[in-house]
Amino acid sequence: MDTERSRNLFHRAQRRIPGGVNSPVRAFKAVGGHPRFIDRGEGAYMVDVDGHRYVDHVMSWGALILGHAHASVVADLTETLRAGTSFGAPCPAEVELAERICKAMPAVQKVRMVNSGTEAVMSALRVARAFTQRKKIVKFAGCYHGHADMLLVEAGSGVATLGLPDSPGVPEATVADTLVARYNDADSVRSILEAFPGEVAAVIVEPVAGNMGLVLPEEGFLEALRALTSEHNALLVFDEVMTGFRVGPGGAQGRFGITPDMTTLGKVIGGGLPVGAFGGRAEIMDLVAPEGPVYQAGTLSGNPLAMQAGLTTLRELDEPGVWSQLAASSEATVEVLNNSAREAGVPISVSSVGAMFGYFLTDDAITDWDSAAGLDRSLFARFYQVMLESGVYLAPSPFESGFVSTVHGDAEREILGAAADAAFQAVASE
Ligand SMILES: *Cc1c(COP(=O)(O)O)cnc(C)c1O
Repeated sequence: MDTERSRNLFHRAQRRIPGGVNSPVRAFKAVGGHPRFIDRGEGAYMVDVDGHRYVDHVMSWGALILGHAHASVVADLTETLRAGTSFGAPCPAEVELAERICKAMPAVQKVRMVNSGTEAVMSALRVARAFTQRKKIVKFAGCYHGHADMLLVEAGSGVATLGLPDSPGVPEATVADTLVARYNDADSVRSILEAFPGEVAAVIVEPVAGNMGLVLPEEGFLEALRALTSEHNALLVFDEVMTGFRVGPGGAQGRFGITPDMTTLGKVIGGGLPVGAFGGRAEIMDLVAPEGPVYQAGTLSGNPLAMQAGLTTLRELDEPGVWSQLAASSEATVEVLNNSAREAGVPISVSSVGAMFGYFLTDDAITDWDSAAGLDRSLFARFYQVMLESGVYLAPSPFESGFVSTVHGDAEREILGAAADAAFQAVASE
């Protein structure tokens, strides 16, 4: 495969952009080779600068649930664009998007728009600490909540340990109040809450974990988190930046019937433009300035262009049958991977929920970060390269989820199947 233009761009980029990319996982470090520079997106496909066409299962990391350059999104954005991109003053689309989010997620009574998931989580936890007048935050090993200092904590053993910073530049004091529990292990949360009575402000969780590969919550796990946080007067924060409007119309909270105190959103609600949001019960959100004393602000927050991309996307998702079609599509997608792997004798375990899917190249059950971290990474790298050469763009890491859009169909699954046959056979014959 001739990828000269991508390679040249990557060389130029590395001279002027750290690692040549503006977000680390794009650099292909986990799979080897160099990233593809993308010229354009067309529905379920991306075309790189060397003219290669890929079925895209990254979908801008989940943001593009309607596929690339969806006709209604493009039309509405074009109209909005003509009227100006940002006013630094309120606009009608903000109100409409807030209303839509609150309607879809009744636990969100009020919501504030921001520009990224990171910002949403960082702001939500500030409010949670102010509301509870407590300092400590409990997160789970293997859950990603953006790159705010206090959450960049080493994926520790599941024991109730004090976190250590995961990155240079994060002072230990910043994460001294971050405690790490084990995903799918409510007892690890109970131990922390009991060890620090009256000190935990919030337990933050990806209600469906999508950032250690796709790991579903086991039966009763989310219910136990709800009960434990209530019992200890800590807030339960669902980080639905990935799962909101992705695992179902009401996010994971709607799907599993759990009412969190606060919710963070991003990705799909921005329809491919930079948007995040945090919301929750009105009494909590009323602490946010200017209603309350907790400062939070943004020059470009709620700009009409980003709001319109989100609005049009959510409006399209209201069409009847969309969610059952998306679920069937992700199910069929993992079935294709499953069949190819089994035929080649390569171990695999697959799962899907809503418009999200996951696959691990192992027969073992992956239920938390400890089990995920042990996966064979070189096997994945080899698999990945053949998939890419065969025209399928998957997330370049064994610890990411896959995504389908409303425009992924049989034709794309056929390309996927042929690629997977080749990739698994290549892996098996090594
Ligand atoms: C992507 C993601 C974030 C961070 O969002 P950004 O927009 O990349 O800052 C936070 N939490 C979860 C669960 C995510 O998937």
